[in-house]
Amino acid sequence: MREGFPTRFRRRLGLSDSVKRMAELLKSGATMLQETCPDCHVPLFRFRGEVSCPQCGRKVILVKSDEEIQEVTALPILVNVEETVLLKIKEINEELKEAKTAAKLQQVSALLSIWLDVLQKVRNVKYKASKAT
Ligand SMILES: [Zn+2]
Repeated sequence: MREGFPTRFRRRLGLSDSVKRMAELLKSGATMLQETCPDCHVPLFRFRGEVSCPQCGRKVILVKSDEEIQEVTALPILVNVEETVLLKIKEINEELKEAKTAAKLQQVSALLSIWLDVLQKVRNVKYKASKAT
């Protein structure tokens, strides 16, 4: 019984098994794509919006151009930047609470306004990058 194999063995199953898997995928409504897995060189399948390899099971992000490749890899960095910016805004918020004089309030408010601008820009770029996947 193949079903009972531990995952580490299942990964190493031969070609006939991946053909079986492909047939199963097709039966369940998956689409076979022209693109192949970079590791196994078998056709990739799109199923419920996700593209994966029927042989090794890895999920693949399909990209159309070099520009989109850059945008896809940029996404985790942008998420990181957004977190940093939010942290800064939190710090500034604390300063704003402590501000007693008009001059200090003005200074901290100006800073807050700058960081909110940065946050909005980061989110715009991030949104575009996430659309590319
Ligand atoms: Zn593969």
